[in-house]
Amino acid sequence: MFSHPRMHDSLWYASAAPAPKTVPLDGDRAVDVAIIGAGFTGCSAALHLAEKGVKTIVLEAQDIGFGGSGRNAGLVNAGLWLDPDDVVKTIGPDYGERLMTELGKGPSLVSEMIAKHGIQCDDVRKGVIKAGHSPSGQAHLEEHARQWQRRGANIEVIDRKRIAEMSGSEHYVGGIIDHRSYYIQPLSYARGLATAAVKAGAAIHERTPVTKLEAMGGKWKVKTATGTVTADKVIVATNAYSDDLWPGMKQEIIPVGCYMYATEPLGENVRKTILPALHPIYDTQPAMVFTRYDRDHRLVLGSLGYLPPGDAAAARHWPHRTLRYLFPHLGEQKMSFKWAGTLGFTSDAIPRFHEPAPGISMTLGYNGRGIAPGTYWGQMLAKRAMGMAASEFPLPVTPIKPARMRSLWMFFYESAFSAYRLKSLFK
Ligand SMILES: Cc1cc2nc3c(=O)[nH]c(=O)nc-3n(C[C@H](O)[C@H](O)[C@H](O)COP(=O)(O)OP(=O)(O)OC[C@H]3O[C@@H](n4cnc5c(N)ncnc54)[C@H](O)[C@@H]3O)c2cc1C
Repeated sequence: MFSHPRMHDSLWYASAAPAPKTVPLDGDRAVDVAIIGAGFTGCSAALHLAEKGVKTIVLEAQDIGFGGSGRNAGLVNAGLWLDPDDVVKTIGPDYGERLMTELGKGPSLVSEMIAKHGIQCDDVRKGVIKAGHSPSGQAHLEEHARQWQRRGANIEVIDRKRIAEMSGSEHYVGGIIDHRSYYIQPLSYARGLATAAVKAGAAIHERTPVTKLEAMGGKWKVKTATGTVTADKVIVATNAYSDDLWPGMKQEIIPVGCYMYATEPLGENVRKTILPALHPIYDTQPAMVFTRYDRDHRLVLGSLGYLPPGDAAAARHWPHRTLRYLFPHLGEQKMSFKWAGTLGFTSDAIPRFHEPAPGISMTLGYNGRGIAPGTYWGQMLAKRAMGMAASEFPLPVTPIKPARMRSLWMFFYESAFSAYRLKSLFK
């Protein structure tokens, strides 16, 4: 159930901007900061450190963007999946409001990175729509919008007529449009951050899994099969793709699958009838469905859960049935790409900030929202490695705690998503 399928099957891998050329680590190095994992968090941290002249090395087990960063839907959303008031209730008003303010600005931070470093990532600045699939889903969206509006965010509620015009589907009862948000080619963005980090002076070594972290006289020895890095500070940016490198990290995350498909490019006549102004949409169904275009006007769609391996009927039929239900006039489409990844949930849907030993920092558990947050947490971890107080983080430093009843949660999510997927086949 918990596996990391190939990222090389994805549309993003087939259409991404080039990655910087790297080689596996070979031999021993000494740096100020070693970063483990080259997703948004690790690459953003490396870039922010290297820009300040800090000697930085990134060690990535596979390829840049191998984790969630190279596989995701590309929606650069603000905040978290939770409503802002729930965040405040869970972590208190001080941390909660600071967290919402910072993550509310997340999409602007990503824009800054794109502009400053000339990152080519097919960004489309249209706002992001969340569609209500039922009256109760819509009522929740309106409450979500109200809570953000009270905090000054530019979010608009849209009615049934407008969502039908904007989506090309009659199946939604309304929605909200978050004007802070937009969408990108996510692997191009991850590679763009990595390229900028290398230009600023960071070293990146792909195909270099870190196998051990060893404290050594106030420094850390970062061990790999082909060399070691001695570092003053270590940033662990392995998130939902964590292995057993640091005890308890993997067990703190509740892994949740997320899969995606992409069609062939649509002809212009039909394209103009579906997401006509190119807005991306995700919805309020328990196993949400999201749709967007890529730069060639392939329709990309996906949902939550791990697909059964192979060519099982539920997996084979899902994209066709879903498109037929949402856009009956679209006609049968060939699925040219199918891929999947893992989201890192936490028991309360709030990300974590840990410092389990002096000199080691990590954030994890982005709960399905990691493009803007990953960029932000990377920047914050870089600042922390350069001496910023931990209290400047909009999250408390907490001990690593394995999620309670993790296996049960995993079973619950998977069963619920596959039941939902099966049910959708009979719509
Ligand atoms: C299918 C899918 C759709 C999503 N859609 C969206 C979306 O639309 N919008 C959004 O904001 N977020 C979305 N997300 C979430 C988002 O992609 C993640 O939160 C984000 O990518 C996390 O970035 P990261 O850098 O923290 O971790 P990751 O990108 O997962 O990177 C972790 C890296 O650590 C490496 N690693 C692990 N162990 C080791 C080791 N021992 N040594 C060296 N390297 C190691 C891994 O190989 C991996 O490359 C989605 C996620 C998925 C899977």
